[in-house]
Amino acid sequence: MATHVLQTTSLHSLTTRTPNSKPRPHFHSLTVTASNPSNAGRKLRAAVIGGGPAGSSAAEALAAGGVETFLFERNPPSMAKPCGGAIPLCMLDEFNIPHELIDRQVTQMRIISPSNIAVDFGKTLKPHEFIAMLRREVLDSFLRTRAESKGANLIAGLVTNLEVPSSTDSPYVIHYTVNKNSRRALAVDVVIGADGANSRVAKSIHAGNYKCAIAFQERIKLPDEKMAYYENMAEMYVGTDVSPDFYAWVFPKCDHVAVGTGTMCSKLDIKVYQRGIRERVRPKINGGKVIKVEAHPIPEHPRPIRVRGRVALVGDAAGYVTKCSGEGIYFAAKSGRMCGNAIVKAFRRRR
Ligand SMILES: Cc1cc2nc3c(=O)[nH]c(=O)nc-3n(C[C@H](O)[C@H](O)[C@H](O)COP(=O)(O)OP(=O)(O)OC[C@H]3O[C@@H](n4cnc5c(N)ncnc54)[C@H](O)[C@@H]3O)c2cc1C
Repeated sequence: MATHVLQTTSLHSLTTRTPNSKPRPHFHSLTVTASNPSNAGRKLRAAVIGGGPAGSSAAEALAAGGVETFLFERNPPSMAKPCGGAIPLCMLDEFNIPHELIDRQVTQMRIISPSNIAVDFGKTLKPHEFIAMLRREVLDSFLRTRAESKGANLIAGLVTNLEVPSSTDSPYVIHYTVNKNSRRALAVDVVIGADGANSRVAKSIHAGNYKCAIAFQERIKLPDEKMAYYENMAEMYVGTDVSPDFYAWVFPKCDHVAVGTGTMCSKLDIKVYQRGIRERVRPKINGGKVIKVEAHPIPEHPRPIRVRGRVALVGDAAGYVTKCSGEGIYFAAKSGRMCGNAIVKAFRRRR
C-alpha cells in the first residue's frame, strides 16, 4: 500500500461563516480562517473528491493559489455525468469556457402545456444572448484538464473512505482504489467534498441529508431532418403525464437530443413519466435511436451542514441546485471556485 503521511500537520480547524451569524441558503460571502499559522516550510495539502464542475473548479483555484492539490475522480474522461447540459450565458465568460465546447446555442425556448399549447419565452433574450447546451463529458474533461494545467494532481481513483482525525492537529486520510483493486491512502490538511448528490464525504462528516428529486434522461440520435427542428430549440413540457411536480425536457446536443424528466414526489413512477414525455414528443423524435439511458438524484435544498472541521462541501454534495429548475452546473463551479479561493486566502493570511 502506497501511503503518503505528512510528518507534521499543523493547520488547525478551518471555520466558515457568513458576515452575520444567520445561516444563509447560498454562499454570498465566505470567510475561512485557519487558526494555526505554523504551517511554514511546506505547502498546504488539499484533497478534492470528485472531478465534476465543482471539484475541478475548486482544484484549479487551489493549485493556482499554490496549494498542493490532489483531485480524485473515479470515472474515465469519456463517461458522462447524467445531465441536460444547459448552462447560463454568464458561465461562459466567468469560467472562460471556450465557445467550441458548446454543441448548440439555443435561442428558441418553448414551454408546452398539458394541452400542448406552446409559449415561446426565448423572445426575452437579447440579440447576442443564448442558452449554451453542451455534453458533460466534454465540459468536465476540459475543466479537469485545466485544473491539471494549473498544477493539480489528478488521481483516477475511487475514494472509498475519508478518515476523520480525532485531533485538530492530525491529517485527514483519504483511502482510495486505483485500477479497481489497488488500495492506497493519502494524508492531507484540508478536504473539499465535490462528490455529487451521493456524497461519501458528506456522510463521513455527518453533514445531514437533503431531499432529492430523481431525474431520468435518454439521449436519442435523430435523423437529420428531425434534428433540424431542434437546431437551436429547447423544449420544456409540463403536465401530470410527464411529471407531477417537475418538468420534462428536450435539449439539443451536437447530433442528438436529451429527452428527460424528473420528480420528487413520485420517484417510483419515473419510467412512467419518461414514457409520457416520449409519447408527447413522438412525432418529433420518430425514427430516433436511443444511444444512452441515464438517471441520477438532484438535491432539492442545501445540506444542514456544509463545513465541518477542515472539510467543506461544494456543488451537489452541498445541495447548491435551483429547486424548481434543477439547474446546478454553474452553482457547482462557482461554489467550488469560491471554496478553493477561500482556503488559499486563509492559508496565505496565516503564513
Ligand atoms: C438528468 C439530469 C439533468 C440535469 N440537467 C441540468 C442542466 O441542464 N443544467 C444544469 O445546470 N444542471 C443540470 N443538472 C444538475 C447538474 O447535473 C448538477 O447540479 C451538477 O452536475 C453538479 O456538479 P458537481 O460537480 O457538484 O457534481 P457532479 O457533477 O455529480 O460531479 C461529482 C463527481 O464526483 C465523482 N465522484 C463521486 N463519488 C466519487 C468517489 N467516491 N471517488 C471519486 N470520484 C467520485 C463523480 O464521478 C463525478 O464526476 C441535471 C441533473 C440531472 C441528474
